[in-house]
Amino acid sequence: MLAESIRTDVAIIGGGITGSLMAEHLSRLGHSVVVIDREQPGLGSTRASTAMLQWETDSSLSELTDLYGFERAANVYRRSRAAVAGLTELVAAHGISCAFQPRPTLYIAAGDVGEKELSEELALRHRAELPGALLSYTSLRRDFGFDREAAILSPGSAEADPLLLSWSLLRIAGGNGTRIIDADAVNFHDEGGRVLVETSSQHVIDAGHVVLATGYVMPHFVMPACHTISSSFAISTVRQQPDQLWPERALVWEASEPYLYMRTTADNRIVIGGEDEEIADPQVRDAMLADKVLRLREKLARIWPAASAEISHAWCGAFGETSDGLPLIGPVPGASNIYAAYGYGGNGITFSYLASRMIAAMISGEKQAWFEDFALDRTVKSQS
Ligand SMILES: Cc1cc2nc3c(=O)[nH]c(=O)nc-3n(C[C@H](O)[C@H](O)[C@H](O)COP(=O)(O)OP(=O)(O)OC[C@H]3O[C@@H](n4cnc5c(N)ncnc54)[C@H](O)[C@@H]3O)c2cc1C
Repeated sequence: MLAESIRTDVAIIGGGITGSLMAEHLSRLGHSVVVIDREQPGLGSTRASTAMLQWETDSSLSELTDLYGFERAANVYRRSRAAVAGLTELVAAHGISCAFQPRPTLYIAAGDVGEKELSEELALRHRAELPGALLSYTSLRRDFGFDREAAILSPGSAEADPLLLSWSLLRIAGGNGTRIIDADAVNFHDEGGRVLVETSSQHVIDAGHVVLATGYVMPHFVMPACHTISSSFAISTVRQQPDQLWPERALVWEASEPYLYMRTTADNRIVIGGEDEEIADPQVRDAMLADKVLRLREKLARIWPAASAEISHAWCGAFGETSDGLPLIGPVPGASNIYAAYGYGGNGITFSYLASRMIAAMISGEKQAWFEDFALDRTVKSQS
């Protein structure tokens, strides 16, 4: 609990993976930092994450190009790729023990997206100087064992245990002087260029800057129209024989909407998720879990018949989305010195890293034209 009022350079609201990346980075840059969380940090959506740390975003480069033109779309993809590379370096620099493994991705044909569409997507990625190779039906079957029309194989992604990563980052931030406080931030007041954060206790936090890293519980004064909450479901199998898993332990995801995603774990399980629903109510979501487990199990049996489909865990969680698939990062319109760090979609953690670097730059007064691509008040175009 907050036992006294505090003055700090930056108050971060939320101590999940987004808040912990922010805290590590800002404290390393020399800011005094306070992280406020009303629950145990990490036990929000961070714990539910399957933590496929991909640079390919939920919207393909072709889709983003249709929405915003090639240059802007290519910039998003390059920033996302640099974010996964930055995260990889961060984990290595601190020697963080969180089952972190670099992995390639397999973006596999599904629904209306076949070899022709994947080939066009890859040509666009090459034009943006992004890596990747097309696997035809024969080479996908021969090299990876998947029975799909085609796939794009790309290097440069990763997997991790999100909770261990988040807790380790908070510990490192703590070593840099960050204070972690158990409190509910209930209101924010502009006080002559600073922000007073009202908490559930009688004390306040007087901050030069506030970063909202509250996951899917967005304060009412933020709420852009392009943002919706839905639900995602995931299962983990029992341990598999290592030689029953696919080569290179690639992160696999389908080129469809909504998509199926799966990866292996350090202890040889398969985690498979998807079956997203446009539902925000946790009770309705929980009630659907049993049925979703059966569906995910059936899908696993179809896509990777060699697996034992015995399930060890099943879970679900809130999943924030925007209509263009891009995160919401930057100043909150109409609120001075309050920044939002909402890294939505299946790349949530990649975007959390990006948010930590962008917001640190903004706090230091840096302005870049490309920051607008992720701004909360950008003109958001929607895929039809
Ligand atoms: C099933 C599932 C699978 C996913 N798979 C992937 C994946 O493979 N790859 C990927 O990159 N992303 C994935 N995601 C998305 C990813 O998990 C999220 O983007 C990420 O966890 C968000 O982290 P966060 O720190 O922003 O939010 P959270 O972890 O939810 O943390 C927010 C924190 O803020 C605190 N808080 C909120 N409001 C207040 C307040 N007023 N005062 C104090 N504290 C407050 C909460 O208590 C919470 O601890 C998945 C999500 C789900 C649900």
